[in-house]
Amino acid sequence: MDFFFDQEHLNLRTRIHSWVDEHLISAPESDLDINGQAQKLVSCLGQEGFIAHTVPKKFGGVRESVQARDLCLLRDELARGSALADTMFAMQALGSYPITLAGNHEQKRRYLPAVATGEAIAAFALTEPQAGSDILSMETRAVRHGGDYCLTGVKRFISNAGIARTYTVFAMTDPDDRHKGMSAFVVQADTPGFVFKESIPLISPHPIGVIAFEDCRIPEDQILGQEGDGLKIALATLDTLRCTVGAAAVGLAQRALDEAIRYSQSRRQFGHELAHFQAIQFKIAEMAAELEASRLLVYQAAWINDHGKPGLKEKSSIAKLFATEAAQRIVDQALQIHGGSGVVAGAVVERLYRDVRALRIYEGTSEVQKLVIAKELLKKGKS
Ligand SMILES: Cc1cc2nc3c(=O)[nH]c(=O)nc-3n(C[C@H](O)[C@H](O)[C@H](O)COP(=O)(O)OP(=O)(O)OC[C@H]3O[C@@H](n4cnc5c(N)ncnc54)[C@H](O)[C@@H]3O)c2cc1C
Repeated sequence: MDFFFDQEHLNLRTRIHSWVDEHLISAPESDLDINGQAQKLVSCLGQEGFIAHTVPKKFGGVRESVQARDLCLLRDELARGSALADTMFAMQALGSYPITLAGNHEQKRRYLPAVATGEAIAAFALTEPQAGSDILSMETRAVRHGGDYCLTGVKRFISNAGIARTYTVFAMTDPDDRHKGMSAFVVQADTPGFVFKESIPLISPHPIGVIAFEDCRIPEDQILGQEGDGLKIALATLDTLRCTVGAAAVGLAQRALDEAIRYSQSRRQFGHELAHFQAIQFKIAEMAAELEASRLLVYQAAWINDHGKPGLKEKSSIAKLFATEAAQRIVDQALQIHGGSGVVAGAVVERLYRDVRALRIYEGTSEVQKLVIAKELLKKGKS
């Protein structure tokens, strides 16, 4: 496994591993609400310097350019400790990466340092009530008026809605040209016409909700790249970050396997530890094999991203598809090994069972990943 990493990666892995053990796994339950916990986590992760890995060094980051392997190592470990901590870290990356990718120097200077420290919570606003997997059916409009753009529309399922300061927003500047008609903008939450509508409670703690743009005027210098670059920016952002969703799945699955092994060695039935029975051993072996394969696929995709090698879209989708589907099976088996204790509210595996579900949906559902993989392979088949 370590052949994917340099010494800095290995040092980062050691540091985040012990931080997660101390601050997430051994920490007492928080009595704050979800938004309060989320804000506290961003602040802690910022202070520890972990969020700095989401932006380039020149703008408050750690490395010259953002590395998918750093993001994966951090998500892998954070998800092992807390799905909410993983989400809050991941959103700083997803919300700011379009700026890193397509912003000009002034935009990077204006927005990225505050994201890197956790002072500004970031968000990525693509999905709409009528535009989920089919993002080109987007209805949000950005119309130029003099030196401004006026945004109108609604975005749904936006992580960090209501607590983010800096939103990357995708809107149609030319609705007649679906592919070249989308543009990307940076919108600050205190802009008049930016409205936080409501939170959406999910099965697992995750700050998320609906936002609206009601004649929201932003200066034209808040566009990222050129008019029409929006789709390219959104897809390139997702190509880099998709494997990190796989990394979060690996972290959750690792925790599930750890819990299953521990429980199977402590619970006794029929005069033996559960681990004595071959049916339990087979489950553990299958979970470990799926986990190992997931991890290899995730870090392979991240390595391809960091080295600019061809095939990123295909490998990143394969990693996300396999790792998130495998994590669901692994968590389910871990819960099964716990018997009735696994479905008791508050049990670690019960929480993992709820936490793991959304990974197969966001940043492209498993079905969409299959469409992407097949399209890439069929394209190659023709050439
Ligand atoms: C926890 C969570 C966090 C999220 N955070 C964000 C965020 O921060 N920003 C943001 O912009 N969005 C976010 N989303 C939205 C997410 O990206 C969408 O939910 C996702 O893209 C799917 O869209 P949808 O929910 O509208 O489902 P739909 O697109 O309506 O799909 C419903 C079902 O139909 C299937 N389907 C659709 N089209 C096809 C097809 N052509 N072939 C086969 N099957 C198909 C899908 O795979 C799915 O199973 C988040 C979602 C969740 C659950």
